[in-house]
Amino acid sequence: MSEGANQNAKMKLETGLIHLGDEFNTTSAVAPPIWQTSTYLAPEDPAAFSELAASINPTEFYSRHGNPTNAQVQAIIASLEHAEAALVTASGMGAVSAAVFASVKAGEHVVTQKILYAASMILFRDLLPKYGVEVTFVEATDTAAFEKAIRPNTKLIYLETPVNPLMTLTDLKAVSALAKKRGITTICDNTFASPINQRPIDLGIDVVIHSATKFLGGHSDLTAGAICGTKEFVKAAWRMMIIFGSSLASFDSWLLLRGLRTLSLRMERINANAIALADYLVSHPNIETVHFPFLKTHPQLSLAKSQMLGPSGMMSFEVRGESEEEKFDNAQSLLKKLRFPKNAVSLGGVETLIVHPASMWRYHYTPEQRKASGIGLGLIRLSVGIEHIDDLIGDFREAL
Ligand code: PLP
Repeated sequence: MSEGANQNAKMKLETGLIHLGDEFNTTSAVAPPIWQTSTYLAPEDPAAFSELAASINPTEFYSRHGNPTNAQVQAIIASLEHAEAALVTASGMGAVSAAVFASVKAGEHVVTQKILYAASMILFRDLLPKYGVEVTFVEATDTAAFEKAIRPNTKLIYLETPVNPLMTLTDLKAVSALAKKRGITTICDNTFASPINQRPIDLGIDVVIHSATKFLGGHSDLTAGAICGTKEFVKAAWRMMIIFGSSLASFDSWLLLRGLRTLSLRMERINANAIALADYLVSHPNIETVHFPFLKTHPQLSLAKSQMLGPSGMMSFEVRGESEEEKFDNAQSLLKKLRFPKNAVSLGGVETLIVHPASMWRYHYTPEQRKASGIGLGLIRLSVGIEHIDDLIGDFREAL
């Protein structure tokens, strides 16, 4: 487990992305090596070996328990999120499940949002109840509903903001304040914003989760996750992670480290591109609605500006059509005509990705659940990349 908060004061974020955790590269190689080994030589002293075998997140013991690159990446991510410590995992869902199972047990209660990333939703809706944990789902935008749902046995409030697919926001300061009064742990999935654009811990949230597959890695070439919080929480999550077996492999960790180096540069371009593209799309006659919290007309603009430092690259929009069927056809036709945005799941890469959520979730949601999640047949989700904005807008102009 690597510590972050105490190192924040010593260097700026951009410098930290390059230099934090350098001490875990114990070689003289400037670019750290890939520690492609499952195991490490035991210390000769049996007492030292016993101690190592019992230690949390060791760098050189057994790769399911940790490795030097993971420690280096953890130092950077903890610092980015203003957390005491961080833990990396094999995927975002590895992080979500380790953090959630470290927070609740049978007989306890969770409050979460009615709309969440679909696999997280499956965890809360289908899995936790099987293990005796009750879950109440509330509107993400309704702080009072969170308060009303709290019971004496509520142990966790789990949030995701901005949330897929309509980029709705939850008021992190308000929800964390009401949880703190009652000793309830709060977890926020910060994947869509990235730590460049939102720091939930500064707003009172206890634990931050990332799918590092997305903006943190930034190149659509790895899967990883991260959990940021107190040292004590991260220890508890690590204990879950090694049992679930969701440890981050050396090569993906190495790629993640490499991706993190340019995080602030990439996000700067992504933020600017997203603002320009959202402004273009909202003024286009063939687009019915654009969901992007930093639009001047967005109902949650003031909350967006108070809790986010920038918009990030996620937005969705609905194409016009006389009926749902026509909207579906128009959305499909747009996907086919666009040259640069790649039609693929996931988000946060250097390339612009576009996806049709209704098709993606067709076999995961009933039509009623899909509609309740705000996914119409004309809805398209966009993860804006770092291409030149003139090419992106030009491409949309032609395709629309
Ligand atoms: N959280 C959010 C908001 C996501 O969008 C995703 C994946 O798309 C995840 C968690 C899960 O991440 P992974 O696919 O890395 O397991």
